[in-house]
Amino acid sequence: MTGTWKSTHSGAWAVDDSEARYGPQVALVVVDLQNDFADPAGSLPVRGGAEIVPSVNAEIQRALAAGAEIAYTQDWHPAHTPHFAQDGGIWPVHCLHDSWGAELHPDLSVKGPIVRKGTHGEDGYSGFSMRNPAGGLPVTTGLDAELARAGVESLVICGLATDYCVKATALDGVRLGYETAVLLDAIRAVDLEPGDGDRALAEMAEAGVVLVGIRAATS
Ligand SMILES: [Zn+2]
Repeated sequence: MTGTWKSTHSGAWAVDDSEARYGPQVALVVVDLQNDFADPAGSLPVRGGAEIVPSVNAEIQRALAAGAEIAYTQDWHPAHTPHFAQDGGIWPVHCLHDSWGAELHPDLSVKGPIVRKGTHGEDGYSGFSMRNPAGGLPVTTGLDAELARAGVESLVICGLATDYCVKATALDGVRLGYETAVLLDAIRAVDLEPGDGDRALAEMAEAGVVLVGIRAATS
């Protein structure tokens, strides 16, 4: 079932094809669609983050109809982690375990397992791998094992944010041997520096990630 989506490259980005990208060996991975990132009242809001929820829900319906797997990642931090600026990282406190900010967006359709990351203070962005807070060694989130058990060979990735967790998850997906696509109308970028989102897309494309669909306006 690899190669279920067809991409026609037009310039830097692939152009959307059809709804044929899903099948039983495909997983739709919804990255970090949580209140702290998606809600303007969150502690680390991504501009336009909540706008993608309807697109993501539509993808979930398509994926379910085709028998694909659905998985969700959820940033889930303790009060102190090297991930936070207060502890030596770069981010404001966000997605504290069991808080409103860490909850998945209330309008998001949840139809599959949720894989948490950062639970024991690990740092990192990918839905697949994190760094141990003591020593920085890589540790798995368990997502790869979950997908392998389901016989998944291809990933379709959406969620937040393009230039951090979506990018890291997609690059890990390629590294782990999955055929990997990212849905351009179901992601948004943090853009700490102007252009970060576009640079992330270019980096993903360079690594072999298929960028699917029409890139949404980011303003
Ligand atoms: Zn985080």
